[in-house]
Formats: sequence, structure tokens, C-alpha cells
Amino acid sequence: MKHPNYDIMQALIEYTKANYHISGYAVGAFVIQEDEILSSAVSTHNIENDITCHAEINAIRLASKKIKNRFLTNCYIYTTYGHL
Ligand SMILES: [Zn+2]
Repeated sequence: MKHPNYDIMQALIEYTKANYHISGYAVGAFVIQEDEILSSAVSTHNIENDITCHAEINAIRLASKKIKNRFLTNCYIYTTYGHL
């Protein structure tokens, strides 16, 4: 699959809209590995009172835990930012 991929971006936009209630920000992220969504996350900094909890960072943390490796080889990150 060639990146950036339109279908993945559309799926991320839908995911972000569906989870808007969590943070109140239209920010979401996917980590993609081998054309599959390895992890997904939204911004949680205002819930956790932690400025590092950007959607991208949350997605990277989840992906690393999932594969038990800090190196996310052959992965791509997609992120949104917008206002609903
Ligand atoms: Zn961010």
C-alpha cells in the first residue's frame, strides 16, 4: 500500500469523530503497520492532566506495547486535526 492512503485517512476521520466526546478535540491518530491499523488513539491530555498525551503519542505508546518493541519498523502514523 502506498502512503498516504485515502481510505485510511477517511477511517481515521470517522474514528476521530466517533471519539470526539473523549477529549473534546478533533484529534486522532492511527499507527499503521503492514496496511493494518496497529493502534488508534485520541488526545487525552485534558483528561489525564498530562501535556504529553497527544493522540500521536498515545497511538505510538499503544503500538509499542502491542508489539513489545520501541522500534515501530515499517510503520506509518496518520493524524487528524480539525474542529467539529
Ligand atoms: Zn499532537
